[in-house]
Amino acid sequence: MSKVEKTRDNLLKCLCKKCPTYSFTCKMMSIPGNIILLINPEKEKPQAETLFCAYTKSQCIEEKKGCLCTQCEVYKENGLAKKYYCLADGGE
Ligand code: SF4
Ligand code: SF4
Repeated sequence: MSKVEKTRDNLLKCLCKKCPTYSFTCKMMSIPGNIILLINPEKEKPQAETLFCAYTKSQCIEEKKGCLCTQCEVYKENGLAKKYYCLADGGE
């Protein structure tokens, strides 16, 4: 698997925040951290709650409700083959 770059461009392309698996509560809790990440994508703390294929799995998403990864530009550009990067590091 190619390594997905932690860039502002990729953060903006990521479809996770539109995904049904990304729960409303998780979305609300993650807003401050995700904004900080857009300013400095290489900074891994606070926890990246987006672009899970480049960072690590989520710390608040728990239940599968469908995955949009296969429709995502980052997915196509990087030849990714798995799904649910929010639930397992490296996807499943
Ligand atoms: S492939 Fe999935 S985790 Fe990676 S950027 Fe796209 S929607 Fe986000
Ligand atoms: S990794 Fe897939 S399932 Fe998880 S939030 Fe992103 S698009 Fe949804």
